[in-house]
Amino acid sequence: MRKNILIILSTLLLLAIPDLWAKEKGTVSALFKIRRIGNSNYISLYDLINNFKFENTFDIISRRGKLYYRSHRVVYRVGYSYILADDTLIKSEYPVIQNRGEIFLPILQAEKIAALLFPALKTERSKGSLIVLKRTRRKRTGDIKIRGSKGLKDKIDFIIVDPGHGGKDPGAIGRGRIKEKVITLKIAQKVARRLKRRVGGVKIRLTRRRDRFLELSARTDISNRYLKKDNNGIFISIHVNASLSGRISGFETYFLSQNPTNEDARNTAALENNVIVLEDHKGKKYGDIDYIEAMMMTTQIQKESSMLASEIQRGMRRKIKRFKSRGVRKADFYVLRGSLMPAVLIEVGFITNRREARYLTKNSYQEKIAAGIVDGVIRFIKKYYKTIKK
Ligand SMILES: [Zn+2]
Repeated sequence: MRKNILIILSTLLLLAIPDLWAKEKGTVSALFKIRRIGNSNYISLYDLINNFKFENTFDIISRRGKLYYRSHRVVYRVGYSYILADDTLIKSEYPVIQNRGEIFLPILQAEKIAALLFPALKTERSKGSLIVLKRTRRKRTGDIKIRGSKGLKDKIDFIIVDPGHGGKDPGAIGRGRIKEKVITLKIAQKVARRLKRRVGGVKIRLTRRRDRFLELSARTDISNRYLKKDNNGIFISIHVNASLSGRISGFETYFLSQNPTNEDARNTAALENNVIVLEDHKGKKYGDIDYIEAMMMTTQIQKESSMLASEIQRGMRRKIKRFKSRGVRKADFYVLRGSLMPAVLIEVGFITNRREARYLTKNSYQEKIAAGIVDGVIRFIKKYYKTIKK
């Protein structure tokens, strides 16, 4: 059936082109029919694939597809309104759709993909068609730039420090009714203060400055908003761990992965993700965030997040001798999912361990943890960025 559609389409294209040749002064290199589906305009993906000779793969289970062109790669997923073209995230009001077996891209996204992949071409809409012409100028897109993966980045613009939990969500409750949300805020404030002293010209922001409830998605939204204004940032979420066993102690740093290191890591993630039940979900579309997250897994960001986690863990290990380093782990934390930048989650210790809980409430111990975290962040920045003011 697809073949028939393609044959009909190509015939239509051939018939339509002479008219355009006459009308446009530029050289037409392709023409795509604009389809009205629902209340938006779409371009057939098969038309694009055939015209530009994209290599392509499609997974029928996840309904995720990839297009390859020379060194370029485009990732899309049916039902989602984000497309990743190389390192640029192309957003749309409308999702990619599948209609009678055929896949369609919102026209805006199709245009932007063309602009990115083929800077020598330009697109125009005319008489129900999207016309691709030999270039006159390159259009800038207003999308979030995730960064190229080559070489060092110029500078770091902002660091978001996220004190876990808050308000109606106390987080873990430990020995002596100590609440996680109180400790995370204290340590986060100390981290922010130290960062301000040690990295000049970098914006340091806390996702919350007092005891208030913040949805998990709001935490990454805050950081992604910064990402639009400035270019480079990192996200650090601070938490306190809990265990059914009072004997377990130590600190660990996580980065996002859908394949947790082990059962412990899975449990920690489940614990931290629990807050979602406290959130008000009306009208929320988590699908998109899930999708970005899925894409991030395949990019530089995961690698950098893992580097950041290693440096932070090492920094803490150097400062803290009293409790053991539990290492760097992978887990599926919701708060890290929507992040479009290197992001880690630190479990600074176990609130359920009598001795560690006592230390976690001490100002001097909190300072030690903060100092270790900041050392790690600075080592990471030095590795990845050309300039850093001391
Ligand atoms: Zn937590």
